[in-house]
Amino acid sequence: MSSVAADDAGETDPLNNTKNAEPSRTCKIVIVGAGVAGLSAANHLLKNNITDFVMLEGRNRVGGRIIAINIDGRRMELGANWIHGILGNPIYELASANGLVDIIQENKPHSVVGTLPDGRRVPFHILQEIYDAYFWFFRRCEEYFLCKYLPPDGVESVGAHLRLEISIYLEQFPEPERHIRNLIFNYLLNRETCISGCNTMDEIDLMEIGSYTELPGGNIVLPGGYSSILGPLTKNIPDSQLLKGHAVSCIRWRAGLESCSTTDSGLGEDLAAKLPATTDNHLPDCRNGTTSLSTSPSRKMRPKVEVICKNGKKFLADHVICTVPLGVLKETGRTMFDPPLPDYKMDSIDRLCFGVVNKIYLEYERPFLNPGLSEVLCLWDPVDPKEPVSERWFKKIYSFSKVSETLLLAWISGEEAKYMETLPFDAVSEKCTEILRMFLNDPFIPKPKRCINTTWWSQPFTRGSYTAIGIGASQVDITNISHPLYMQPTCSKPAVLFAGEHCHPSFYSTVHGAYLSGREAAQVLCVPDTPPEVVLDVEGTADLSSWLEGIKLN
Ligand SMILES: Cc1cc2nc3c(=O)[nH]c(=O)nc-3n(C[C@H](O)[C@H](O)[C@H](O)COP(=O)(O)OP(=O)(O)OC[C@H]3O[C@@H](n4cnc5c(N)ncnc54)[C@H](O)[C@@H]3O)c2cc1C
Repeated sequence: MSSVAADDAGETDPLNNTKNAEPSRTCKIVIVGAGVAGLSAANHLLKNNITDFVMLEGRNRVGGRIIAINIDGRRMELGANWIHGILGNPIYELASANGLVDIIQENKPHSVVGTLPDGRRVPFHILQEIYDAYFWFFRRCEEYFLCKYLPPDGVESVGAHLRLEISIYLEQFPEPERHIRNLIFNYLLNRETCISGCNTMDEIDLMEIGSYTELPGGNIVLPGGYSSILGPLTKNIPDSQLLKGHAVSCIRWRAGLESCSTTDSGLGEDLAAKLPATTDNHLPDCRNGTTSLSTSPSRKMRPKVEVICKNGKKFLADHVICTVPLGVLKETGRTMFDPPLPDYKMDSIDRLCFGVVNKIYLEYERPFLNPGLSEVLCLWDPVDPKEPVSERWFKKIYSFSKVSETLLLAWISGEEAKYMETLPFDAVSEKCTEILRMFLNDPFIPKPKRCINTTWWSQPFTRGSYTAIGIGASQVDITNISHPLYMQPTCSKPAVLFAGEHCHPSFYSTVHGAYLSGREAAQVLCVPDTPPEVVLDVEGTADLSSWLEGIKLN
């Protein structure tokens, strides 16, 4: 059994570990993180002829939650899998523009078999019936966001609402038929936790589930894998500006204003009033300020944001675009920023969910499943949540789907996914073989030659998989997190901007959400500091000007 690191956790590059040895490097913009959001921001700056930036990436690779490994010429995508939607999806556009999409989509039928723990198979028409019913139950949950109906009393979560509808639906069936249908619903609920990114659907806010916007066109798989998108995203960024092994430990976003009190709300509302008049030559570009604030100091004298890396390197910048994932913000948000992030931001970071979803790849010497079959559904008997997770973790695996005839993929979420990360690949492999033998009622199902599972929770640069809106949270929390920080209220541009999938109010959890948020943050910095002067070059302008001057606006 091979043991392959499912993702790197390169924190520091020993060669770069030159603590305090070098003077700080100055640039206009620092981008923290080289996942899709960071790469998208960098590309947008380049398109707008802004080249004075560096990207600081903690790992020794780019791509963040887009990563593939190649083993024996076989590519396994450990993170993002599908481009969700075609119309209006910038990732699809980028992929097509770069020839990464198959023009002719082969529409292979997706044939599934629903299996019970004793190996019996569920008739297909029952599977179909429950899929259809579930589809409509889920639609109704989504409608609350758009229509703001009131849900039944005490029903706050998607899980509770779905279970209510399921129980009403099941009442019409006598016991054995009800039981089988209930198992299929349980399977669908498990699957939903992997789609939403949570432990159970009881964690997901009912009123907000409809805030996620699905783009039309279905789920697209790139023939070269999702990670082939990293080619066009990185090709224009010079290596010298993309610094790997540079984990950022601190962003001092008012470093240049040290002499001032920084006890305000974090938006800087009251800071200007507290500034001593003598500090004007430390001030950034400002507009609408007092005489001293409006002085335009040379760039050298502007207060900078200080970005300090774990390897001792220090960077000074006018602006920082921070794209670290929500999981990292949850873990380090209270220490990574100086001054600390304002309370409203930290509260929103705490309220949103950042669920754990992992993949398990099983690679076989030879094909063993019927070639016409694409997925084996495991319809587990109801699980007792009081049972220790070590005894029941594998019952969260709801299916095995074929990537190819000799490669199977399973998904697992929540606390069970976290627990799995503590196990060696061999133990995961053994368990998967047991499950397949049991559900297919075939003791001769071979053992895989290799098993690889992802460890997104243990990854210090991710700490989970993707964002979901938990009970009590809302889109407002996403907006709060993406809200930029200004060094002072009078500054025309923010000191720190935030981007990443967790910053997109309707495409959170996706690659295209990350891409759009990165572009949006960069766009804020592409707008000129002072709008170009409008010259009215028409006859009679002089008259018009004097007429305008005569107007009193107050
Ligand atoms: C298993 C899995 C399956 C998925 N499937 C899909 C899918 O099918 N379709 C889809 O659209 N999306 C999918 N996603 C989600 C998608 O991968 C993410 O939404 C997207 O890649 C996030 O991009 P990002 O730039 O916001 O964050 P990331 O990709 O996480 O990038 C953040 C970067 O910041 C770096 N970083 C973190 N901390 C620091 C620090 N302190 N200093 C410096 N750098 C730091 C990280 O190393 C990383 O490179 C999936 C995710 C997972 C985990």
